[in-house]
Amino acid sequence: MIKFAYDALPGRVLFGAGVCKQLPAEIERLNCSRTLILSTPGHENQAKELAQQIGKLASAVFPGAVMHTPTAVSEQAVEFARSVDADCTVALGGGSTIGLGKAIALRIDLPQIAIPTTYSGSEMTPILGETEGGQKMTKRTPKVLPEVVLYDPELTLTLPVHLSVTSGINALAHAVEASYAKDRNPIISLMAEESIRAFARSLPAIVLNAKNESARSDALYGAWLAGSCLGAVGISLHHKLCHVLGGTFNLPHAETHTVILPHAIAYNSQAEPGVMNTIAKAIGADDASIGLYEFTGRLGAKRSLRELGMPESGIGKAALLAMQNPYWNPRKLELHAIHELIRRAWAGEPPKA
Ligand code: NAD
Repeated sequence: MIKFAYDALPGRVLFGAGVCKQLPAEIERLNCSRTLILSTPGHENQAKELAQQIGKLASAVFPGAVMHTPTAVSEQAVEFARSVDADCTVALGGGSTIGLGKAIALRIDLPQIAIPTTYSGSEMTPILGETEGGQKMTKRTPKVLPEVVLYDPELTLTLPVHLSVTSGINALAHAVEASYAKDRNPIISLMAEESIRAFARSLPAIVLNAKNESARSDALYGAWLAGSCLGAVGISLHHKLCHVLGGTFNLPHAETHTVILPHAIAYNSQAEPGVMNTIAKAIGADDASIGLYEFTGRLGAKRSLRELGMPESGIGKAALLAMQNPYWNPRKLELHAIHELIRRAWAGEPPKA
């Protein structure tokens, strides 16, 4: 018999081509007038253009966001926000930039507007991962959840195809793990399935034509759903492995998710046959793990940790670390099987249940 608890998260979402033009109205809606615009160094020009567009509502631009939200950068950004008397932030970019907005909100509670330009989904979650001294620590607190999210697919047209693919699979991983989460519920399961379908449709179309506006809209829709799933329920083995591998070997975030996901699904397949069937159908395959492995291959993504720069000698260490402080998982963690999973992923072999 069905039994669940569901905590809906607050937040305002505006979705559609050109929706970014509503930014001034959204800043005023928050009763703010001194906006600090955040970006990565590579997107400083776009951030400055946005500052020009919002005119007197812009206070300054901080183009210092970097991957994995180092605390030193966050503290520098907080100092800067204080020095320009900012009363809200706008994060224009992917998960790295949105992470910086969250880190500022954690420290000085500035309201956040997120304008995502990748499919990371971070904008929909009350989760912040911060790094200090080479260690990544993750917090879950409503304090870091952005107040407003503007999803404008036009801003994703420039996302290179290979980043679109891996970022899309990173999002799909949120939806997959939400489908078998310990605290899953029917609403999130529906959103997860719809997200997987949206990426199964849109990513091949983006690979054919990166400027396909309807595919871009579909992928961003999938990212919104996937982020909502990640924000609402727990994560399992897949995310644990990616955190261990990313943190220990400094592997790229979305690419690591792309390599690991088919293998994590295979590991859990016998523990959750019904969920795996739903995932397989959503991607249009007979088997979820093999189907996803073939899908990422067709999309031209790298399928081995070796290609991402992980040394073969790290397999044993990664397996041991994955066993420490494990996240809840449908199947019990067994060292030998986890070692074999990582070995296959390292070599780029097809996943095996
Ligand atoms: P990212 O934000 O680092 O962006 C990747 C690269 O793409 C950057 O060089 C960026 O400048 C570029 N880029 C972004 N949008 C672009 C566009 N439209 N056109 C051209 N280039 C563009 O990468 P990401 O994968 O979005 O985010 C990864 C980070 O987000 C990691 O630190 C990860 O831990 C975090 N994350 C957090 C959560 C959460 O809920 N807290 C969820 C997912 C990811």
